[in-house]
Amino acid sequence: MVCSVCGQPLEVHPGAALFPCRRCGLAFEAVDDRLVRVQPQTAAITTELAVPAEVRFLAVWRFLASVEVSAKQCTSASPPGAAWDQVRRAAAPEPPFLYVPAFSVSRVTVHQIGLGLVQAQPLLELTAGIPPEWPAKPRLVGPEKGETWAIDPGFGAVSPVLLGRTDAETVAHFVYLALESRVTPELRSIDYDLSLTGAELVLLPAVYDTRHVRDSNWRLLLREFDGLVA
Ligand SMILES: [Zn+2]
Repeated sequence: MVCSVCGQPLEVHPGAALFPCRRCGLAFEAVDDRLVRVQPQTAAITTELAVPAEVRFLAVWRFLASVEVSAKQCTSASPPGAAWDQVRRAAAPEPPFLYVPAFSVSRVTVHQIGLGLVQAQPLLELTAGIPPEWPAKPRLVGPEKGETWAIDPGFGAVSPVLLGRTDAETVAHFVYLALESRVTPELRSIDYDLSLTGAELVLLPAVYDTRHVRDSNWRLLLREFDGLVA
């Protein structure tokens, strides 16, 4: 498979749904025996804390979302749309986004990172393109000086994209229901309509750190997440 713009061979990770061309900063998704072009956007680091050396970029789908909850069975008296109203308030005056991690298919990772992003509604400073790869293989953090071993997440500077857009739209329901069950722990059933538009593939800066107990060892380098660092 080659890039339709420059003719370079595309990068292929095992299990990947999209194939990047580093030279053009594009990615291609196989849909119905065709390669469909996607323009990834890279988010700038906005954390106000120290930035470690090995910054990685995690692929996440972002959708403009609107939710209508028609009925909800739970013991609390909160109105049916309460959970999404919180998200809309966090995003205001911008419209709210629903985020679906595409760099991992681990249930815990999708749940924690997806829900964290939906609740935080971070202000992203986006630039078209893909960050450069590291020149060498990332080193492992050793146990000398009392450090624990960091387990390599299996990729270098930029994560593979394991979910295509259509699959991400399906997983978006899982992220939305994670939000509902966080806000309403005693939720028994819910009838809702979720509509998603404006799909974008964004690469979010993060560091892999096994000492970070929240967010599945991933610390997002965005100011909205600075409060989660111990
Ligand atoms: Zn290319």
